[in-house]
Amino acid sequence: MKDKQQNILIIGAGLCGSLLALRLGQRGYNVTVMEMRPDMRKVDISAGRSINLAFSDRGIKAMNMVGILDKVMPLCIPMNGRMLHDLEGNTILSPYSGREEEYINSISRGGLNSLLLDEAEMHDNVTIHFNKKCLSVDFEKTTATFKDYNSQSEFVEDADVIFATDGAGSAMRKSYYLSKKFLFSFSQNWLSHGYKELSILPNENGDFKTFKNALHIWGRESFMLIALPNLDGSFTVTLFLSYDEGEYNFNNLTTKENVLEFFGKYFKDALELMPNLAEDFFENPTSPLGTVKCSPWHYKGNTLLMGDAAHAIVPFYGQGMNASFEDVTVLDQVLEEGHKDWETIFKIYESRRKKDTDAIADLAIDNFHEMKGHVNHPNFREKRKLEMALEKEFPEYASKYSLVTFNEDMGYQEAMLRGRAQDKAILNMLAEGTLNMEDDLKTNFEKVKVETDHILEEDRIAKNA
Ligand code: FAD
Repeated sequence: MKDKQQNILIIGAGLCGSLLALRLGQRGYNVTVMEMRPDMRKVDISAGRSINLAFSDRGIKAMNMVGILDKVMPLCIPMNGRMLHDLEGNTILSPYSGREEEYINSISRGGLNSLLLDEAEMHDNVTIHFNKKCLSVDFEKTTATFKDYNSQSEFVEDADVIFATDGAGSAMRKSYYLSKKFLFSFSQNWLSHGYKELSILPNENGDFKTFKNALHIWGRESFMLIALPNLDGSFTVTLFLSYDEGEYNFNNLTTKENVLEFFGKYFKDALELMPNLAEDFFENPTSPLGTVKCSPWHYKGNTLLMGDAAHAIVPFYGQGMNASFEDVTVLDQVLEEGHKDWETIFKIYESRRKKDTDAIADLAIDNFHEMKGHVNHPNFREKRKLEMALEKEFPEYASKYSLVTFNEDMGYQEAMLRGRAQDKAILNMLAEGTLNMEDDLKTNFEKVKVETDHILEEDRIAKNA
């Protein structure tokens, strides 16, 4: 798009919206951003939202695109693997990759979002307004109606193009859906589990109470607890638990005694680090987890949904933010190609991107089961051991996790198809006894490659049949 004089309206200044504003600002467009909440750099608005996030290579690629990676890295704590805690409190560190340089990071949502806002606002052609809630979007006229929380009045904003990055409950997506003016498909699937954030505070010296450089997991088959480190020496702990199934669930954990009993039984070593547990438990909200898929994301060349507004996913692959950042990278690549109108740009963008966001949505559900249960199974551990060794020895090998997390130039769909085939190959051969862990690594590498290709070929034939 050559005409930079156009007015672009972005709804929502979260992670995706603020990165998009920065990138379009760098490209010279006139950008106005409207955010519902107060400015997070001035008011603490963290309550009830995930405080830290796993940030990995797809997110890093986006930060490189806008040239701020050097400012982002000081906000990160490397997490080299999963620290698995069993019922007795024994721990094993299971690396994310056999290659040392492949790890994920814990980053503060507020810290990263604030940095992106600062960077976007440095451009004279970017203006960000807070306390302005979008009520609806008229996508035919390319206007949006807002409520100003300061004056309590409503106003209409006119733009040449509107991007909605207003998260999982998107107002623009709702306008698409309610208008019935075009064929808009929409699905929202809730997990039976919700989540609640808790914390492990630093010790008296301000140090971490447990191992800092890991994502801690207490997987208990039907529920789990995880913890990610923060720069201040604390951990943000998240409990994923069913609302109403099982002996203990969110609906029946109603007293301090119940909560302490539950943690004492299933998360004994975590409980010892959490004298503040009951307080956190009853002060912090319980929130639902869902997957949103919809299409089309755009209406002609007028409007486009991006980030969670287009594809909210459950958090178990640590990819929602990374995928939302990758949306901006992919859109930027399409812009770079110099197409002449927004409709063409949006069409190309959606056709390239949708298959990948559908894939990461499905992978994230798979990983829910993997994290709470499979990581503890002997088969899984044997598979991981082999994969670690293969990754260490053969640069061309990458496990499914690595394909998704550390291979930022491969789309999620390809990572999913190849990764699933590889998993199936290894698990099948381990079960049949055709893969022997005592054999030399090269032999096993060849066997995995041949069997994976065979499965991929079968999948291709089945798909085309
Ligand atoms: P959001 O971050 O939700 O931002 C939307 C913005 O729009 C907000 O600022 C909101 O206030 C504003 N807004 C909403 N409605 C309106 C309106 N009507 N008008 C104006 N403004 C509006 N991802 C990872 O990559 N790694 C992780 O480890 C990870 N962990 C997670 C853990 C949990 C418990 C959850 C729930 C999510 C996690 N995610 C993770 C996913 C990640 O949080 C989201 O994918 C990411 O925040 C999406 O960014 P976004 O900008 O699209 O939406």
